[in-house]
Amino acid sequence: MNIPKQMKAGARMRRAAAQISLAAMLTLALSAAHASAAAGDTGAGTKRIAIVIDDLGNNMAGTEEIMSAPFRLTVAVMPFLPTTKRDAEWAHRVGHDVIVHLPMEPLRGRRNWLGPGAIMTDLADDEIRRRVEAAIDEVPYAVGVNNHMGSKVTADERVMRIVLDVCKKRGLFFLDSKTHYRSVVSRIGSELGVPVLQNQIFLDDIASTAHISRQFELIRKQVDEQRTCIAIGHVGIPGKKTAAVLIQSAPTVSGDTQFVRLSEMVQTVSQSRGK
Ligand SMILES: [Zn+2]
Repeated sequence: MNIPKQMKAGARMRRAAAQISLAAMLTLALSAAHASAAAGDTGAGTKRIAIVIDDLGNNMAGTEEIMSAPFRLTVAVMPFLPTTKRDAEWAHRVGHDVIVHLPMEPLRGRRNWLGPGAIMTDLADDEIRRRVEAAIDEVPYAVGVNNHMGSKVTADERVMRIVLDVCKKRGLFFLDSKTHYRSVVSRIGSELGVPVLQNQIFLDDIASTAHISRQFELIRKQVDEQRTCIAIGHVGIPGKKTAAVLIQSAPTVSGDTQFVRLSEMVQTVSQSRGK
């Protein structure tokens, strides 16, 4: 690939990424009501919060703040973008978990909001497998996968069976962002023996500090009741606000609550399932 082409692609991707965030937020806003019912692990011991930040890989606003957050978290990095490798390596270096933020077809929204290498329901089995493998290969240090958009794909049994089968072979867990209430991910994951986690709260489906702060209070409530909570925020349009709320609020959680990486949550889930 020659340089001018790459630069043009970079500019296009930056524009596309701005649209991705908008589109993602629209999808998330519509489905946030369904997200809160997800079940959490109820194992004994310390209460645990796992914060996941989506949409890294494109030098989005808030990336630096999230990387330097003074607690453990997980970043979801999109494949095939200008800072995919940089962001994954950066997160790993500072001790955060890295997962692949796999673009997947939504029920609503244009295909070019998805970014490169997206998983579409009209693709053949082989092509889906090839795209999932390629995306995982693109993101160094990945320990899991979650969906970017994907309200159509996560409800599609054929496609999710292939995605989760690749996860199984690569030893990765799957975090279901729960953009669709009819998601088949949990059922197929447990059939195949792939650890599946579920998002419970979207932090910044509305990009205002007041809303993000209210969502953080929901995390507090959820972790008091269920002992664990998984919540998703974003870099991009809400990025700096989300990072600021998290960094301010993290020290104010009760003394028996820890911030953990998603991989630590997977261990808790599989331990309590094994009992
Ligand atoms: Zn996303």
